[in-house]
Amino acid sequence: MKAAVYRGPHDIKIEEVPEPEVSGRKVLVKFKAGSICGTDMHLYRGEWKWMKKGLIIGHDAWGVREDTGERVVMVPIVNCGHCYYCLRGLPTYCVRGKFYGLTRDGFFAENKAMLPRSLIPIPSNVSDEEAAIVEPVALALRVLDYLKPNVGDWVTILGQGPIGLLMTQIAQLKGCRVIAVDLEDYRLELSQKYGADSVINAQKEDAVKTVRKLTKRGSDFVIEAAGTTRTVEQTPYLVRKAGKVALVGESKGYLNLEDADEALFFTIYISPVEYPSAVELIARKLVDVKGLITHRFKLAEFEKALQTVDTLSEKPLKVIITQ
Ligand SMILES: [Zn+2]
Ligand SMILES: [Zn+2]
Repeated sequence: MKAAVYRGPHDIKIEEVPEPEVSGRKVLVKFKAGSICGTDMHLYRGEWKWMKKGLIIGHDAWGVREDTGERVVMVPIVNCGHCYYCLRGLPTYCVRGKFYGLTRDGFFAENKAMLPRSLIPIPSNVSDEEAAIVEPVALALRVLDYLKPNVGDWVTILGQGPIGLLMTQIAQLKGCRVIAVDLEDYRLELSQKYGADSVINAQKEDAVKTVRKLTKRGSDFVIEAAGTTRTVEQTPYLVRKAGKVALVGESKGYLNLEDADEALFFTIYISPVEYPSAVELIARKLVDVKGLITHRFKLAEFEKALQTVDTLSEKPLKVIITQ
């Protein structure tokens, strides 16, 4: 079968690989569609050199179960259920956990053997393309769940790429006032479409000054989704005292906490917990993932898809891969 194999930085190609072994309780899932995520791009750009060469990448995808014919979203993290972290509701850190597309072969392959408990059925009113973008919705739900905002609270979101735009949508659903920050106007136009109360183009305006002016005392919550050390380092100046900061895009950078008294900072990149809720929100049209799709490629054109995500002039947001 064909699969997208990681061979090294800027070296991810479609190769012929052996079929997966369907053993024990596993079932075969035939790949239908998926999307490229920031994590895949970290690998492509050679930013995560610890990645094992020869692994199949991809962790946001769906397919059809060969045994039942059902459309299913594949959850990329498998946890044991009884280790220290699992018992504390933190399956992402399971000591026996597997992370498809990062520590185990991922989903950009024609076939994948999966445990039925890692498969979420897709309702008929979720389209084939929509079902390809579930992981960032699940992450956005988890982040907002950690922040626990009240109606009317200020949430400043740095970066309005696919993840930032989904944070904007879900913060709106929670009744927050959203300040969306990005460097690109085409992204900020979408933030406005998704209901952001204020947008800041940080190329033209001082984001810290504007946020402090709008919120009076600093933002109740700050989400870093731009993925740069510069934006990470900005967060202590944006958050109010005893506010909360979620670092979603990047965690490196120096945090000067001089004026961020009692503020809480945490990192988070993925969550397998909210997958069923994410699919349900898409089905109920409460979250729009379709509007984030800018490009579509076939699995065979995988390299071209990666290059497109890396070309700013293409104005990429979500790039979809189909069989
Ligand atoms: Zn991802
Ligand atoms: Zn565990």
